[in-house]
Amino acid sequence: MTDVYIALGSNLGDRHTLFLQAIEQMVQRVGLLVRCSSFIETEPVGFVSAHPFLNAVALYRTTLTPEELLKTTQEIERELGRTTKSVNGQYEDRTIDLDILLYGDEIIDTPELKIPHPRMQERPFVMQPLEEVRKNLTISRDF
Ligand code: ADP
Ligand code: MG
Repeated sequence: MTDVYIALGSNLGDRHTLFLQAIEQMVQRVGLLVRCSSFIETEPVGFVSAHPFLNAVALYRTTLTPEELLKTTQEIERELGRTTKSVNGQYEDRTIDLDILLYGDEIIDTPELKIPHPRMQERPFVMQPLEEVRKNLTISRDF
């Protein structure tokens, strides 16, 4: 079993419902949900849009390989109505974005999959919920 941190983002449609559906689908297909951060509202970064984002980070425990995990999160993105993919760092509005931040302590660097997620450290909308999830974990271990 491996601990995986998934970043969720959405700035189109019913963002709360999409988050709940994505979290539930990952419970069905990724593994045990250990923790989920608060859902925070943030301004789009890297592109101009009238639609603010909802962001969160969830921690799952999985038996999937990193490649299986990516395939699964991309399937869930498609099922929840994501129709476009970012190309060459050109971002756009999206119903749901599921990014793999961390997979245990593995480092992966292939064209399809980079873990740790290369841009996570510079993104407060990822780091803040990530820290919330990790902080809660430390507290719960103390009890
Ligand atoms: P972004 O999340 O940057 O807005 P996309 O969700 O459209 O862009 O993903 C673009 C590509 O990024 C995917 O096709 C996937 O192969 C690749 N990718 C590389 N590393 C990761 C990762 N850690 N998590 C999710 N996708 C990744
Ligand atoms: Mg993505």
